[in-house]
Amino acid sequence: MVIQSSSNKIVGKRTDGTPLCRCIICGRLTDWDFELGDEPLCTPCWDIIVVAEEDRKAAAAQKTWYKANKDKAAAAQKTWYEANKDKVAAAQQAVRVESERPGRRAMEILRAMYDQGSVVFTNKDNTGPTKPDPGTKNIGWFYSANGTTEFYLNPTAAYQAIVEFAARSGDPFTIKPEALWKDLKRMGYTDCEEGRSTKVQKVFGHNKRLISLKAGRL
Ligand SMILES: [Zn+2]
Repeated sequence: MVIQSSSNKIVGKRTDGTPLCRCIICGRLTDWDFELGDEPLCTPCWDIIVVAEEDRKAAAAQKTWYKANKDKAAAAQKTWYEANKDKVAAAQQAVRVESERPGRRAMEILRAMYDQGSVVFTNKDNTGPTKPDPGTKNIGWFYSANGTTEFYLNPTAAYQAIVEFAARSGDPFTIKPEALWKDLKRMGYTDCEEGRSTKVQKVFGHNKRLISLKAGRL
């Protein structure tokens, strides 16, 4: 009976005699089984319309279950939290420590100063220092090659700039320089010689022990 009422939707036949219909969405020729309904759909349109509808139903069922079992769900959540309290606290502490570590804060300050133009770096291949613009501090050297740039901090000048910036912001930077450079090393931000937080670089024709930021860190 269904086939009878839908036979007018058959617009052609395959060479083997299989009937073909037009997809009601995109008009593509497609096989169609009228047991599935009266409106022919090609496979891609079927996937979009029917599968999306099933997803929507599944989500609705989940929501209904959750609504009906709110207390059970909350109790399960609480039980899990009680059993994993230490793990949760440790994870929270790890996030705190990471965001408070001196190396991270120092790098944020350095980037802010660099972006503002309040600190500058000199080309390490220059023959000597140039006087920076007023209001600008020269805190080290840079070296560009193959599209990347490395920055070498003059430890004394860079540390002083960091401390002054932090003081002006009202949140003093109280970490000693050695601890800061060690933290940058631990964070993997610097190239260092064995057992040191510094690396010798040739600048202005002389070897100096500098904090050598890896390319892309500033
Ligand atoms: Zn279609």
